[in-house]
Amino acid sequence: MKKRSEQGRALFYSRDSGGRHEATPPEYVRWAERRAAELGLQFDGTPEAIQEMIQSGESVRGDIFFDFSVPGNILSRKGLDALRSTAKTDLKVSHIFSPKRNRLARPDNATDGINLENDLRKLGITLVFMDRSLEPLKPRQRMPIGELVMAAIDYDRSAEDRRELAQKIIYAHIRLAKDAYSTGGQPPYGFRRWLVNESGEALRELEKGEIVRRQGHHVVWLPSDDAEWTTIHRILELLKTNSAHGVAKILTSEGIPTPNHGRYRTDNGVPHTTNGRWNQTTIINIARNPLLVGVMSYGRRAMGDQLRATPNGPRELTDSDLNEHSNSPKVVRNSNENLIEAQAKFEPRVDPIERQALIDELDRRGGTQRGKPRSRNPAQNPLGVRLFDMTCGWPMYRIPYKGSFRYRCGLYSQSCGGQCHHNHVDGVVATKFALNCVRQKLLSPTVMPKLEKRLRELSERNDQSDRNAPLLAKKQRELSELQDLREKSVENMGRAKNDAQYNALAKRFDQLEEQIASIESAIKKLEDELHSSPVGEDEVAMVMAAVHQLSELAGKADNLELARQIFQLTNLRMFMRFRPTRPKKRVINKLVGGVVTFGDAASPVEIYEGATAHKEVRSGAKASDPLRRSDFSDGENKSLRNVSRGDTI
Ligand SMILES: [Zn+2]
Repeated sequence: MKKRSEQGRALFYSRDSGGRHEATPPEYVRWAERRAAELGLQFDGTPEAIQEMIQSGESVRGDIFFDFSVPGNILSRKGLDALRSTAKTDLKVSHIFSPKRNRLARPDNATDGINLENDLRKLGITLVFMDRSLEPLKPRQRMPIGELVMAAIDYDRSAEDRRELAQKIIYAHIRLAKDAYSTGGQPPYGFRRWLVNESGEALRELEKGEIVRRQGHHVVWLPSDDAEWTTIHRILELLKTNSAHGVAKILTSEGIPTPNHGRYRTDNGVPHTTNGRWNQTTIINIARNPLLVGVMSYGRRAMGDQLRATPNGPRELTDSDLNEHSNSPKVVRNSNENLIEAQAKFEPRVDPIERQALIDELDRRGGTQRGKPRSRNPAQNPLGVRLFDMTCGWPMYRIPYKGSFRYRCGLYSQSCGGQCHHNHVDGVVATKFALNCVRQKLLSPTVMPKLEKRLRELSERNDQSDRNAPLLAKKQRELSELQDLREKSVENMGRAKNDAQYNALAKRFDQLEEQIASIESAIKKLEDELHSSPVGEDEVAMVMAAVHQLSELAGKADNLELARQIFQLTNLRMFMRFRPTRPKKRVINKLVGGVVTFGDAASPVEIYEGATAHKEVRSGAKASDPLRRSDFSDGENKSLRNVSRGDTI
């Protein structure tokens, strides 16, 4: 067996939020060069090289491994992953240089950082930080207790830094919120960002994403004077006599631009442009926006992975802040008592009494589902939103049944049996049947080559979007630079000696927040483009292989997730026809036929488009809606039914 060299090649690793700033990484490399020479090691890194890497967004060049704009608590990063694999495979590597522990990792759990170090040391590698060196460990050797304690303290401190930062940001936000200043982000529909001076005088409207750095100035949201307010008043009026869904339909049919027309959004990880259609959530959010009556409210949505805001300051995350399945932090909707409210810097635009009446009415109409996310596990629901009852045009919903599942008419369920019949099919049988249809369709001699061609086209489009990568890297560096400045500015706020100093710093913080928001949205857009066609050469091969295996799969239907993906890929939809029969005494609705469509084929019946909420259906809200979804086949239809409640308004 070849032995690892004891005095061979040195690698350098650092992580930077990009900014602090482009002067430091070259300094670090200079340090590594010096140390390598002292220790008699080979090392090809130069300050110029890392400078170029920063410019181009590369994470590996020769002996330099570098990650930009990756939060330290994420332990899988491009540069770090490459470093680990090089360290493992190249036995000449004897040393790894990293300036400080917190450049290597800033884990949420100190043990993660320690394990990372130990993995490297057990390869026979010496870790060299600026303030200490750690000798290799024998495969079964335990870390000396002194080192262990030091490491735990170091990494724990790094984690503590993140908490402290989160805490400071929350306090800064609360302070701004209590003064009715913007804490960053996009203003709601009908409002614009305005620059105000210390005495609260509105100076001028800010452009989208525009940043102004001026002492003693803040950003507030003020009503715009344009068509948006005509629409807002219209919405409030229409809502008195129409459901939110009905109002949305009216506005859509009139072609009135939606609040986020021209923007991108993502649903279940699928990015898409907004489709110009109003939805009921948007309508409700506009109607419920407290800014209409001059109340600025903060903290409706709680997010963040360290701490979350309450009017009294930060609080710890609880179970309800975590995703059930992945245990990762999720955005939650706060109840009213957790909001910070302040009198906005303008007169109410809507009569508060009238608005309260409307809100009461909206509550009465059944806002009980508001803000409650639907639980979903797509893998268990291969035919979700793909199966329809031809009798009523409603989608059939998955329901658990005797350890397996069924699809049952949605109208039947939601009207408590009042408006349709107990039409149902066995979930597994339906999945098998659908897979067989796909197989029949795909195995025809003409379809296979077409499919492959289409996938290759998608794959090429993907290559093209890769060209965005350097621009994205640049933006990400700018972002981390700003985030560092923000970090700095929060630190400074803690040190402010008097109110004036503090106000100036808070101002600066506000501006940074604005800048960060605008860069984040630019990055988001670039990333969306990058990921918009996630089909690479490998995927083409994989999908083709999967298609070839379909005959086998169709017999089993045990891989529901793969089945779901195949249905999504082909945009399969099944329309089921039921007829009452009386085999014995009881009348049973039997499946007697149906239609299967693929791609963007038109549906054979009008698909129900209206409200699906229990109450609305039961109270006999209009049950049929002839509006056919034109974009049904684009594979992104989830956003229509699984609306993200309480999103941008
Ligand atoms: Zn039905």
